Amino acid sequence: MFSSLTPWLREQRLDFHENIAIGSWLHFKIGGKVSLLVTCNSPAQLTACLKKVIVEKIPYLLIGGGSNIVFSDGLTRAVVLLYQGTAKKTAAAKILGGRALQVDGHVKNQLFLSWCAAHGVGGLEFLSGIPGTMGGAAAVNAGAFGQSLADVLLGADIVDKRGNMAAVDAGYFAFTYRGSRFKLGNEAIVSLRLKFHAEKKRVVAGKIKANLEYRLANHPSYRLHSAGCFFKNPLIRGAKQSAGQIIETCGLKGLAVGGMSVADTHANFLIHSGGATFKELERLEQKIKTAVKARTGISLEREVIYVSARGEKY
Ligand SMILES: Cc1cc2nc3c(=O)[nH]c(=O)nc-3n(C[C@H](O)[C@H](O)[C@H](O)COP(=O)(O)OP(=O)(O)OC[C@H]3O[C@@H](n4cnc5c(N)ncnc54)[C@H](O)[C@@H]3O)c2cc1C
Repeated sequence: MFSSLTPWLREQRLDFHENIAIGSWLHFKIGGKVSLLVTCNSPAQLTACLKKVIVEKIPYLLIGGGSNIVFSDGLTRAVVLLYQGTAKKTAAAKILGGRALQVDGHVKNQLFLSWCAAHGVGGLEFLSGIPGTMGGAAAVNAGAFGQSLADVLLGADIVDKRGNMAAVDAGYFAFTYRGSRFKLGNEAIVSLRLKFHAEKKRVVAGKIKANLEYRLANHPSYRLHSAGCFFKNPLIRGAKQSAGQIIETCGLKGLAVGGMSVADTHANFLIHSGGATFKELERLEQKIKTAVKARTGISLEREVIYVSARGEKY
């Protein structure tokens, strides 16, 4: 099924790998192999690939920066479309007029923020230090410092489940806390429209730097392999509580299963220190959930996305 796609990929001059270990493309650096990994560096490449796999009924899923997702240990029988731009010099985004801008989904957040600083585009500095792409950020409603994508998104150009392009508004995303219809769905965000406010360039640059410095001082090192906060902050009697603090209070810092452990510096970061498997991550997740439930009665919910051997996100 997958090999039938390779002549077409060659014709299109698309970069692809067959039966490749997926871990090196993901921040967690764990997981088994995928049948086919295709790099899409532009909206045109992504839309062409999507049309092809949808018409041929080949199972597929999309990843951006791979900073919030992990695959199971065996072979995942699916085409993984890696929608991640490599260009550093081309314009990351464009101003549409008024207080709206457009950015392609494959643009990395940090590159986009550099563009914001250079153009006096304010209001998006909360993204500073969140790894990944703008499409991925919108799909999971990424956020920090009290703001998230849902606060700034106006709309998007997407490819729907039938392979058709459509312009949608923010309501279509059905945003939730760290989620949207795209998080576990298979529609693709090709480009996004965001609102912003005009700001002095040095003010934007200063906020981006301050946010990054705060994160570097308060989060585990970016050199460690993790997916950021692993559990959602639970809502308790109407107020959000820090999952990290709950895990820490339960005395679980440093808890380990094989090569996976709870970070010493931030108990909501699960760290891969080498040689870990997806099974070990799953067992650590279960141990934390069970211990927290037994000690506090709180049910923690996973924020990070898992992918099954059939290529389904859950
Ligand atoms: C050190 C560290 C710190 C982090 N800090 C934060 C934080 O402060 N706040 C926060 O919210 N998150 C944080 N994260 C988690 C993660 O970086 C964010 O969720 C990020 O926005 C995910 O983007 P991505 O491109 O890596 O998505 P991926 O992990 O590649 O994918 C995530 C989901 O989005 C979907 N997706 C990706 N691109 C598209 C697209 N173009 N169209 C449709 N669906 C798409 C995927 O199918 C998947 O379901 C952190 C992670 C790390 C490793």
